[in-house]
Amino acid sequence: MKVYSFSRGGIKFEDSFAPDSNSSRLAFLPEMVIVPLSTESGSRSIPVVSTGQHIEEGMLIARGQGAASANIHSPIPGKLTRAVKWSPAPGFLSDAFVIRLEGSFKKLGKPEIRHEWADLNWFEIRSLISEYGVIEMDGLGRPLCDIFSQKNAVVSPLTFIVRCVFDDPWLAAEHSLCKERLEEVAEGALITARAAGAATIVFAVSAAERELGRSLIEAAKRNDTSGQFTFTEILVGSRYPQHSDYAMETVLLRYSKREGLIHGPMLMLSPTTVAAVYDAVVLRAPVLERYVAVGGAALKNRTVIKARIGSRLRDLIGECGGFSGKAEESSVIAAIGSPLLGRAAASLDEPVLKTSRSVFVSSVKRRETALKKYSWLKKISQFLPVATCISCGECRRVCPVRLDPEDIYKRISYGKTGIINSNCIGCGCCEAVCPSKLPLCTAIVRTPFKEDTYAV
Ligand code: SF4
Ligand code: SF4
Repeated sequence: MKVYSFSRGGIKFEDSFAPDSNSSRLAFLPEMVIVPLSTESGSRSIPVVSTGQHIEEGMLIARGQGAASANIHSPIPGKLTRAVKWSPAPGFLSDAFVIRLEGSFKKLGKPEIRHEWADLNWFEIRSLISEYGVIEMDGLGRPLCDIFSQKNAVVSPLTFIVRCVFDDPWLAAEHSLCKERLEEVAEGALITARAAGAATIVFAVSAAERELGRSLIEAAKRNDTSGQFTFTEILVGSRYPQHSDYAMETVLLRYSKREGLIHGPMLMLSPTTVAAVYDAVVLRAPVLERYVAVGGAALKNRTVIKARIGSRLRDLIGECGGFSGKAEESSVIAAIGSPLLGRAAASLDEPVLKTSRSVFVSSVKRRETALKKYSWLKKISQFLPVATCISCGECRRVCPVRLDPEDIYKRISYGKTGIINSNCIGCGCCEAVCPSKLPLCTAIVRTPFKEDTYAV
């Protein structure tokens, strides 16, 4: 079977400090959780509970209000002790609830009751997805039904791509979930496709995971009792950033041309999101926990953890056996996301969000190296360093969208941003390979551009 990939650029991304994706462990229940009332991109959901109130596990605590906000449920039973302000990103302040563990669990340890969905239409499925607060469980965390509405399935049926692509070692949580919840991912894909108005389901799978792809297709076909969908498996390369929307679209177009696949507008989602759809529709369960890849040089152990939403980063670090060697809280940097694309955590009290797929912690020894290597860890300076560019051209070689990061970066440095418009997908490849450690991606992504496309 042919392996498809994007045409040029990209890097081989390896990291020995990322956790192994072959296993996962269930975290101990946190004594308290911090539950933000909005996603990083979304507007605030409206609280429906108040301070001092006793909360049940899975109870609705804030209701989404229109586009870009989602229903939010309590991950644990307990008492709502405080309402606090929390800032997940500079310039963005969110309300959050602090809930202390108390009382008994309504869902944990109880048998799961299956609800059949075969007779539900797209509208009924979307209602359940909204009710149980399902959002895209990576990226910006947009409510799933908002994404469905933005895709035009009326003009032509959508092609739904389940992105089982693991080109980044920090996608270990996705990988682990995909293997452990294979049946749920396969059935969740069918449910999602019906809700979105998709006729074709494509499982895009890393070439090294052929067996996983075969098993997903078999499980999906077994569950498609209506015979309403067509299924395709596409094996894709593992060069980073293969899992980006840009690279996946390239792959689908190439595959369609070669294999004659007729496709409509594309909808791409991760296995974690699809499994959350399964939970909402089949189990009628809200998103209360997620798989998180926890690693980094400063930790004793590195592992994939099933953690309750709202657990603090320090809880996850405790699950990994704490800090390694002489590292301590005052001398580490914690960050959320991939080392190429993540964001620094303000403190170890930051909560796990529905979108937190990985957390990594660098030790004091590596702090300076990490600051140099991953420039997004520090606030970008108004005066970017330019003198150290040695014009090696490495950044051009790896850019998958044929940009000239060196030139764009220099233009930004001299304040000439009005004449360029970047198609940058923010993959971070240029920054990862730059021998001068210039904050290329960081600068390009954060600078507003105008006018025409700029490409070499
Ligand atoms: S990789 Fe870095 S040093 Fe090399 S040309 Fe690009 S910006 Fe300059
Ligand atoms: S310029 Fe943008 S798209 Fe190109 S390598 Fe850098 S981050 Fe990726």
